[in-house]
Amino acid sequence: MISEKLQEAINKQIAAEIWSANLYLSMAFYFDKEGFAGFSHWMKKQSQEEMEHAYTMADYVIKRGGTAKVYQIDAVPQEWESPLNAFEHVYAHECKVSQLINDLVDLASSERDKATQDFLWGFVREQVEEEATASGIVDRIKKMGATAIFNLDQQYGARQ
Ligand code: MG
Repeated sequence: MISEKLQEAINKQIAAEIWSANLYLSMAFYFDKEGFAGFSHWMKKQSQEEMEHAYTMADYVIKRGGTAKVYQIDAVPQEWESPLNAFEHVYAHECKVSQLINDLVDLASSERDKATQDFLWGFVREQVEEEATASGIVDRIKKMGATAIFNLDQQYGARQ
């Protein structure tokens, strides 16, 4: 059985994952409005992945005899200055998420809950990919400049 403290912390993380899903959906809408259909598609996929994280965490809490909850989700930003600015935001946000997951691992460790630590390591590893992907896109946009961004947009439109 999962401890109250850890259950509460994972439920907060579920809210953070849903907030992330909303952030990326908001970016998808922004990109659509700006004429970047590919980036919009990419962001919708990203948003779906974040919701999957929330479902996975909820399943885990329930499996461990806890109660999964949907806490209040704060409003997300709606405007960005440019595609570069939006992807810089993705990178900064993913770094923040990595920190939240690290803090959860520390809490699971202090609660001496080995199963939850093991469960969380999957997310720790995934954050390495999330950060690298976002910073890679930021680098590419910086190198390409404004005109070539549309090529990149088409490329990201093919994300599965
Ligand atoms: Mg996530």
